[in-house]
Amino acid sequence: MEIKYCSNCLFPETKPDLSFNDEGVCSACTAAELKDQGIDWEERAKQFHEIVDHYRLPKEKTGWDCIVPVSGGKDSTYQAYFMKEVCGLNPLCVCFETTMVTALGQANLDNLTKMGMDVIHFKKNNAAYKKMVIEGFKRLGDEMWPNHIGIFTIPVLMAVKFNIPLIIWGENPQKEYGGPSLDSVQSRILNRRWLEEFGGLLGNRIQDMVGVEGLTEKELSPYFYPSDEEINRVGVTGVFLGSYFFWDARKQLEIVKQYGFGVKEDGPIEGTYTNYENLDEKLVGLHDYLKYVKYGFGRATDHVGIDIRNKRMTRAEGLELVKAYDGKYPYYGVNNFVEYSGMSKEEIDAIIDSFTNPILFKQDENGKFLRDEAGNLVRTFEVK
Ligand SMILES: [Zn+2]
Repeated sequence: MEIKYCSNCLFPETKPDLSFNDEGVCSACTAAELKDQGIDWEERAKQFHEIVDHYRLPKEKTGWDCIVPVSGGKDSTYQAYFMKEVCGLNPLCVCFETTMVTALGQANLDNLTKMGMDVIHFKKNNAAYKKMVIEGFKRLGDEMWPNHIGIFTIPVLMAVKFNIPLIIWGENPQKEYGGPSLDSVQSRILNRRWLEEFGGLLGNRIQDMVGVEGLTEKELSPYFYPSDEEINRVGVTGVFLGSYFFWDARKQLEIVKQYGFGVKEDGPIEGTYTNYENLDEKLVGLHDYLKYVKYGFGRATDHVGIDIRNKRMTRAEGLELVKAYDGKYPYYGVNNFVEYSGMSKEEIDAIIDSFTNPILFKQDENGKFLRDEAGNLVRTFEVK
């Protein structure tokens, strides 16, 4: 099987919604070029500070000036830092609890309070959430499915409840990883339409989970976006910080480390070569592996792409990292998922196999996927 790769980064043509120009450069790289060249960042910064000043509460008034959705990760820590230290606001940080938090993730979340901010850690109904985790895994091959919704809906629900109109999101994920169209690349506001189209819900809506294992709408309250009426009453406005300031993850990492943010000191995260991203979730390796079995590329390819586009790595160096890290069977993630879900490893593997693309991975005469001695799938294609 021959797969076409971007001539600049290592994104394959199997990546959903990716397109290539005549020179063989992918839309993610083209968007990054646009981000570098076409934008007057000084003008954008001015616009951002005007927005902030509009929402800033008067000095004598108690309350929070904005909401910063946080995970305890480096990006959201940077957003919170930026709003407090650079803009001088009093942000309310809002975290939707992840599926299986790591000790480091919890420490980084707690660190936000040490940085001088209030944090709401939304602890969800785990019985209901777990049903969706398992359904998302079986139906869509995505065990983080309800999380993709909760991280977007809870900050908006809190904005409505606490009457805080301004929500500061980070990088527009469509921009960093390459999305369907330039229209989405340029959109600077996150709303319901954005969530439904680009929020990674794989064509499923929360309504589709009603009735699964007896789930009721009531139990799923945290996952419903507030009504248009409520949004309009408060005037909720969500803006992407990354649309107004040049987004350089590694530079931002150095800043937040000075404010107590911790990285994984004992080696990279499962599935990639970096140690500063996706630190908070024990299942992340499984999540990234599911993408690999579907499309033939993993998290290392994403990270290599960012490092190449930010001129920190050559394509040849990236190629070596992708070969070394992408597609390794995620033992840590799967073992944790056995513990969380109550499913056996065999059941989990069978479901992973059902999402594994038979064109991309070799099978024996009975249709069983071949594996090497380390338990990794055998590619029918060469990464190049
Ligand atoms: Zn590319």
